Amino acid sequence: MRANVINTQAKSILRKQKKAESWFVSRYGMNLYRGCTHNCAYCDGRAEKYQVEGEFGRDVAVKMNAIDVLKREIDPTHKRKPLRPGFIFVGGGVCDSYQPVELQYELTRQALQLIAYYNFPVHMLTKSTLIERDFELLRRIHQQSCAIISMSFSSVDDAISARFEPGVSRPTHRLKTLAKFKKANFPIGMYLMPVLPFITDSPEKIAESVKAATDIGIDFIIFGGLTMKAGRQQEHFYRILREYDARLIPQYENIYSGNPWGEARKEYYDSISHLFAEICKTFQVPIRIPPFIWRDFVDETDRVVIILEHIDYLLKLKNQKSPYGYAAYSISQMKEPLRHLYNQLQQIKGIGNSVARLIREILDTGSSAYYEWLLLGKRPPQ
Ligand code: SF4
Repeated sequence: MRANVINTQAKSILRKQKKAESWFVSRYGMNLYRGCTHNCAYCDGRAEKYQVEGEFGRDVAVKMNAIDVLKREIDPTHKRKPLRPGFIFVGGGVCDSYQPVELQYELTRQALQLIAYYNFPVHMLTKSTLIERDFELLRRIHQQSCAIISMSFSSVDDAISARFEPGVSRPTHRLKTLAKFKKANFPIGMYLMPVLPFITDSPEKIAESVKAATDIGIDFIIFGGLTMKAGRQQEHFYRILREYDARLIPQYENIYSGNPWGEARKEYYDSISHLFAEICKTFQVPIRIPPFIWRDFVDETDRVVIILEHIDYLLKLKNQKSPYGYAAYSISQMKEPLRHLYNQLQQIKGIGNSVARLIREILDTGSSAYYEWLLLGKRPPQ
């Protein structure tokens, strides 16, 4: 669909996260547009909570001054304290950075030029093959530091995608784009999210997606279920779902029954997450971004936080209790670098002897044998 463009001015572009984000290994994020003509049926950018102006799927707010603002935010000569090192995540949120308006306004390309100039690593996430336009620019970033190229999928089934993701490149095309980046030695990832309940969440459909990704040498797959907030998002999705197969509506109503954040029942999420983890184990594909990709491009406190959160996720998937998530949170709230407390880690809330030992191992070696065993199945820890 052709976008109805709304010109806007932004006060800020670079979103500094309170803590390193372990799903994307990023410290910063940005939305150069608001709204998205890719118009995916399930997009939560449609939910009232995000206050996207206009009609979602048709209207797109273009932040006309975005590049000037970003330059001010990223240029170290404009700052008393330079930005902390870390990945800038370009994607997700309430827009796709490579939706069709990008062809005209080129905000993503200009932002990448700044990112390359100031030497930050990036993590790109899109559903559009237009990202290939910026191949050389991304290659420059990857040669200087790191550019992770990820694409999101609800499945790799082109026919289902055409019904629920009308404005995006078909999954087979997205996979080809990822394969091109892989061939040029970029790390590539699949965000298999959201899978659609009773449509793309079956063992066969998930296995089909995982296999297609491993066939092109995917470095990791991150999985997530659909959230559906009451209001515009749900009304729109149910309209499309009814046209697809009205018999599914009662099944959806059964699992999405009024949670204020639009979450499905916990048992449903648990069952599909376990299924996904089992399938990825068979295909030997990591379900978090492996540390060899990113660990040299984040500071060591962030490295610890991300690894602890990954361990927390992996243990919970095995239905095991984990002290690691809380420890990661406590560390992320500290003002001083973690290394200053190398010998007094137990003073930090939530950190006992074994977690402290693991943190020291990360500080000393950049990773942890236990973590690599959980994530990559590497040699078992002693
Ligand atoms: S591409 Fe992403 S942001 Fe755009 S409509 Fe689809 S889910 Fe929403």
